[in-house]
Amino acid sequence: MSPPASARLELRDVSLRYGRGAEPALKGLSLTVEPGELVALLGPSGCGKTTALKIVAGLLAPTSGEVLVDGRSLLGVPPEKRGAAMVFQKPLLFPHMSVEANVGFGLRMRGASQAESSARAREALGRVRMEGHGDRRPDELSGGQQQRVSLARALVTEPSLLLLDEPLSALDANLRSALRDLVREVQEEGGYTTVFVTHDQEEAVVLADRIALVTGGALRMYDRPQAFYDRPRTREVAEFFGATNFIEGRSAGPDGPVETALGTFGLATPVPAGKVTLTIRPEAVRLGTQSEDGGNSFVARVSEATYLGTQISYRLQAGDTSLRAALPPHTRLAVGERTTVRLPAESLWPLGP
Ligand code: ATP
Repeated sequence: MSPPASARLELRDVSLRYGRGAEPALKGLSLTVEPGELVALLGPSGCGKTTALKIVAGLLAPTSGEVLVDGRSLLGVPPEKRGAAMVFQKPLLFPHMSVEANVGFGLRMRGASQAESSARAREALGRVRMEGHGDRRPDELSGGQQQRVSLARALVTEPSLLLLDEPLSALDANLRSALRDLVREVQEEGGYTTVFVTHDQEEAVVLADRIALVTGGALRMYDRPQAFYDRPRTREVAEFFGATNFIEGRSAGPDGPVETALGTFGLATPVPAGKVTLTIRPEAVRLGTQSEDGGNSFVARVSEATYLGTQISYRLQAGDTSLRAALPPHTRLAVGERTTVRLPAESLWPLGP
């Protein structure tokens, strides 16, 4: 079978309001998904993720803005002509049909013969490791197996866009990570341009080439997963990606240091003159002997130590400022102890407004 033609998907300033006077569910969303790329559309419940996916699929028309595939506008193109296949949170299989008939259904609707749709359905079931299950009925399968069948049903039409709406969120943790790996494998094998909706940041980080973080209907940051940890754009983005430290300061200018209540810090990144909030992940904070090589350091008191199995989380107090540090579990600092703390220049990051 010929591989799908990977498509470039582009959303341009897409907005949607569900009703007159309602708060817009999407506010000027713009993003480009490159051919063969897997983008996670990440955000809390109600932020507009499903709305965005439905607009791409053609199930909703935007109030304004454009959706383009390979530079051509999709506005007015009906869902079945968009080359897009969607997988939902719930499997939505026809209960009275066999697994194979479920997977081949879309092809039959497009006029494929029984023999062709069966052959292609079996091939698609093989790709999701469900060969040999074609004769079963959906209710004879586990939740995870049903979701594999849903994925096969999406793949069988050789879509140029694969749209996945929280496909793993109804499964338990073990199954979820196994299926996550399968999704990535199948996606890479087929080279499908994919949008994967999720509210789970870990899932987004593990799966995605790039993450689009959406809150309140607007795009807050669009970048590779690592950038969300190392170079978050704003405080909101930094907080969405787990525990972190914030330090208020004032920059002397692009090359100058930043003055804070903890001391004067150099950064590896230029910061324009004026007020600035710095962030540093607890994992990047250096303590005790780790902090000996000078610069960017100060003394603090350990006010709390929590053993977490793979690490120890320390709370440090220096004057009125409290910081978190996460260290390997073999480090033993006692509560009440005073320690040198170093904030490495390359791990201190200035947040935008
Ligand atoms: P979830 O993860 O809970 O599915 P989501 O990020 O996918 O959330 P959407 O389902 O896109 O969010 O909803 C975005 C906003 O639009 C929410 O405030 C929601 O209440 C509202 N909304 C969604 N569908 C409709 C609808 N059919 N009519 C009116 N408002 C809607």
